[in-house]
Amino acid sequence: MKDEVEELKVRIFDVEKKKELVLEMEEYVEGAVSYAMPAEFPLEALRAQAVCSRTIAIRRMTVFGGSGCRRYHGYELCTDPQHCQGFLDQEGRMKLWGTKFEEYSKKVSKAVEDTAGIILTYNGNPIEAVYHRACGGYTEDSENVWGNIVSYLRRVECNYCKDSPDWRKVKTFSIRQLKNMLGINLDENCFEKKEVPGLLDKIVSTPSGRIKRIRIGDMIFEGGDVKKLLGLPSTKINWKVSAITFEIMGSGHGLGMCQYGARTMALLGFPLDEILKFYFTGVELSKIEKPTKAKPLAGKVVAIDPGRGGDANHCGPMGLSEGYVNLEIARVLEAMLVQEGARVVMTRAKNEYKSLQERVKIINESKADIAVSIHQNFCDDESIGGTETFYCRGDEKGKRLSLCIHKELISELKLIDHGVKEVDLYILRETQSPSTFINVAFLSNPEEERLLSEREFRERAARAIYTGIKAYYQGLFKE
Ligand SMILES: [Zn+2]
Ligand SMILES: [Zn+2]
Repeated sequence: MKDEVEELKVRIFDVEKKKELVLEMEEYVEGAVSYAMPAEFPLEALRAQAVCSRTIAIRRMTVFGGSGCRRYHGYELCTDPQHCQGFLDQEGRMKLWGTKFEEYSKKVSKAVEDTAGIILTYNGNPIEAVYHRACGGYTEDSENVWGNIVSYLRRVECNYCKDSPDWRKVKTFSIRQLKNMLGINLDENCFEKKEVPGLLDKIVSTPSGRIKRIRIGDMIFEGGDVKKLLGLPSTKINWKVSAITFEIMGSGHGLGMCQYGARTMALLGFPLDEILKFYFTGVELSKIEKPTKAKPLAGKVVAIDPGRGGDANHCGPMGLSEGYVNLEIARVLEAMLVQEGARVVMTRAKNEYKSLQERVKIINESKADIAVSIHQNFCDDESIGGTETFYCRGDEKGKRLSLCIHKELISELKLIDHGVKEVDLYILRETQSPSTFINVAFLSNPEEERLLSEREFRERAARAIYTGIKAYYQGLFKE
């Protein structure tokens, strides 16, 4: 079955050959799986790997709202395994697999085809589907490696990697080697000694038994730094003081899927979804939804700014607060956009005060594709009413977005048309994405205040903005 997703192209940067590769999604996944997991692993483990590798790619890709590779601009991913995701091209696979090339190619292709278009999601979003060689007994909680809590990267007890060559390894260093590799200060005559009591001291370890912080000689190291500096496979280590022999359990950061564990689970007959759900807490297996003409918003990141909020003094004559109205329109708009597959970032989620600077920061950090700032107008003359929309000088996309939205607002709300204008406003100027600033109506006008107090009117305003955004992406607007 030829799937629509198969037509999805990935532009990657091959860091070794220093060249661009444009591949079909599933072709890319084959190369990523070939790099990530030994092809002799059972088919079901390769399938699990294919889902992880594909999810990592989708999460990066700009068409799905990702950042792309942040090192090589203009590419979705690079082939540096330390940066985006490792990848083996045909040549690399031939080298690695030798006489088994044909057999393994078929096997990896099958694992990829069987899972075509399937990714791991949490709350409907593709996850950071990380994996490691072997966990050595327990996978790790994300906060112990990255510092932040990720709901689906929780510690699980895994005895499935017991028979892996990485379950337990020893690595011996001379004291001189330790001094050189870690840059610690040590008394010269230590080098001759067989024993230096108290040379190493575990300060903090995680519940899964990995070193979080360690003192070696006169310096304190983060577990991850010791792993890097000494070239150890993982931070789950013990040592013998007499010879500085490290005993290391597992290989890799310990987050997400334990590959050797997946191998054993596959051999024991666990199906794909059970393997993945064992290592990633609370995830679902979902089909990729490709952004299409019919769904122009899929994967787009839209920032909605309902103004600064929380302002009791920004009210209409009858007391309706602007902070509330803006937020109500924003919420309806958010639901409509999410329904269409967009990712929405709100600068504030409740009616509380948030400074302009804070809101601009949220928009810029979200790397939004577009930003929509929703406001109401005020005028001393209560008889003045109507709709107006602004864009920043030089922001051509913002101008087109403003025109698209304004046109819909006028035809939907039928208030007086104050037009689309160029303006120098902090929020438009400092926002890095194409942006628009909308004054839906005049809250100082009692008739328009009454309209804004009605849920139905606010929904119509949100729908008009939504339709305008859609028209902007469909390129439907004609000046
Ligand atoms: Zn990269
Ligand atoms: Zn394991």
